[in-house]
Amino acid sequence: MKRLTILLAIALSVLSVHAFEPVKEWGQLQVNGTRLCDQNGNPVMLRGISLGWHNIWPRFYNKKAVKTLVNDWHATVVRAAMGIQIEDNYLENPDFAMQCVEPVIQTAIKNNVYVIIDWHAHKMHTREAVDFFSRMSAKYGKYPHVIYEIFNEPVDDSWESLKTYATQVITAIRKNDPDNIILVGCPHWDQDIHLVADSPLQGFSNIMYTVHFYAATHGEELRQRMEDAVKKGVPVFVSECGATEASGNGRIDEEQERLWIECMERLGISWVCWSVSDKDESCSMLLPRATATGPWADDVIKKHGKIAKGYLTKYNNFSSR
Ligand code: MG
Repeated sequence: MKRLTILLAIALSVLSVHAFEPVKEWGQLQVNGTRLCDQNGNPVMLRGISLGWHNIWPRFYNKKAVKTLVNDWHATVVRAAMGIQIEDNYLENPDFAMQCVEPVIQTAIKNNVYVIIDWHAHKMHTREAVDFFSRMSAKYGKYPHVIYEIFNEPVDDSWESLKTYATQVITAIRKNDPDNIILVGCPHWDQDIHLVADSPLQGFSNIMYTVHFYAATHGEELRQRMEDAVKKGVPVFVSECGATEASGNGRIDEEQERLWIECMERLGISWVCWSVSDKDESCSMLLPRATATGPWADDVIKKHGKIAKGYLTKYNNFSSR
């Protein structure tokens, strides 16, 4: 019996070695120059998966789905895309939004992975965003797991007006949370990163700027623009991307996707793939018959999901640590 207990203890310790917990390893993230770094100042990259709009795919906003993305898909970060538009969004139904988003945040904290609280908007709602992020930072600012994304993809707003917006939201967050990473969107669906490079925000620390790409639409031109911005000193975080066309549908371009991934790996830029959803469109990673919780066998993972899972498995392979 004693021998069995010892064997069991050894087996458990071996298993625990394989469960990589990035927040245990890297702790409180910080931005040094253009790089995301761990608590000791060593550069790190987060790679993960975004859930779809909470108000369209609420069924995937559950603890087990998050654990599936962490344990089976090797995500070190998950993104909760809290819808600010489309029917039943946060502005219309905040209680339901929080019922979706909070289990995702709390499961990430419990499993020691990073989590992006994403204000998934295309239009500016300053007052509501300040109020929301004040409350989120008061509640979760003490957890190194949490990253705030304050404006998913601005469409029509100028960089000057976005700077005013970001200053207000960041100031509200920093009253409660002096250090967690804040992601700031830039004009035209997070593509005009050159405008940020010419005139970045001043006076804040641990700020990064988001670039979003869809590889079947955006190629070398946007990649070069991103690299130029990094060379000018802009810390970039790709908080959403896909191998499809920018609509989220249409062609999947595996070659351009590979070039994007290689570029981000070379520059040390963190990336998050869009999305855990089950619509009949090419960016959706799962079939409608996939369970809400996972684990998801290959036969319910669509092509885009397989590509994302494949890159995560390749690059987030920390099991040898
Ligand atoms: Mg903090």
